[in-house]
Amino acid sequence: MIPYGRQHITQTDIDAVRAVLTSDFLTQGPAVPAFETAVATACGAQHAVAASSATAALHVACLGLELKPGDRLWTVPNSFVASANCGRYCGAEIEFVDIDALTWNISVTALQEKLIHAKQNGVLPTVLVPVHFGGQPTDQEAIWALAQEYGFKVLEDASHAIGAARKGEPVGSCRWSHATVFSFHPVKIITTCEGGMVLTNDAELAWRMGLLRSHGITRDPAHLLNTDEGAWYYEQLELGFNYRMTDVQAALGSSQLPRLKEYVEQRNRLARRYDELLGDLPVQRLLVHAENYSACHLYVVRVNAQRAGKSRRVVFDAMRQRGVGVNVHYMPIHLQPYYQQLGFRRGMFPESEQHGEEALTLPLYPQLTDAQQDQVITALRQILQ
Ligand SMILES: *Cc1c(COP(=O)(O)O)cnc(C)c1O
Repeated sequence: MIPYGRQHITQTDIDAVRAVLTSDFLTQGPAVPAFETAVATACGAQHAVAASSATAALHVACLGLELKPGDRLWTVPNSFVASANCGRYCGAEIEFVDIDALTWNISVTALQEKLIHAKQNGVLPTVLVPVHFGGQPTDQEAIWALAQEYGFKVLEDASHAIGAARKGEPVGSCRWSHATVFSFHPVKIITTCEGGMVLTNDAELAWRMGLLRSHGITRDPAHLLNTDEGAWYYEQLELGFNYRMTDVQAALGSSQLPRLKEYVEQRNRLARRYDELLGDLPVQRLLVHAENYSACHLYVVRVNAQRAGKSRRVVFDAMRQRGVGVNVHYMPIHLQPYYQQLGFRRGMFPESEQHGEEALTLPLYPQLTDAQQDQVITALRQILQ
């Protein structure tokens, strides 16, 4: 089965991991800050806090942005559940904003309309989590302008988008947001097995997120509330978590990072090749705006049963039968039983729901060969013709 995504591990990666395994520190050593600095530098952000996953990073970011019980976090239904769950961890209410019919990213028009109503009803969000779907940056300048106007915080879920850029500005620079989160899960652009990171230009926010990642404990003399009693002394200032990334993982990340540009270029090359070779098939392809350089994490097409003459289900099963590990990104978050139990219903976010019914993710990863890609294309062609 050709998977929809796959990590790429080199001998250099293995050597880097092995070196840490025989060093003094497996965790809380120098490899984590080194990886944080390397990612912050690559993205043009001032601070970075590594975490055990993007989900953990989203959680500490929400806490750092002072999302409190009863507050509201807005995100899109067309994402992984973690984009919304991070708000629930803080006791916040979730609200969703529907997606754009062409980019499948958050619709800025829908956001604007929703904000007008929310202001009238006194239910404005504290935090908005835009998701760079498939690696294409969202319209962050417009979102940032709305954040200034309505006074909410912007937390970019860039789990798909390390290596992407908008108007030459790398995703992660936080030029148009308070913080940005990356995921290093193996299907994402670079990997640390499990792992994530949150970037920001706000020193105070970075410090708090670092505190919350490690039990809320500090030894920093500048932050101690009582007298330092000796070299053993630390203080727990807040109820934090153990969300630390290990040095082993960070070493893998630092070893992968220099290949980021190459990986994203290769993903773009393969995506353009899909665009060309699928051009005549009755499926909808993604619109990527000219100002965006996508990280091409996912290659998603939409199979509309009427237009294609076959349902997504039929196409999906036939692709899997032919050895192509297609997937679906995403079943809308608000239709998950957990969110339905909170009151969300089918019909509330029609674009996301239609996307969820039609989306079909084709294999895309740097080591996918042209021959494998041809196999995917031939299979889809046979099924649709
Ligand atoms: C993968 C992903 C996450 C979660 O990442 P983990 O590192 O697995 O916690 C969150 N949001 C989106 C959009 C993702 O794709």
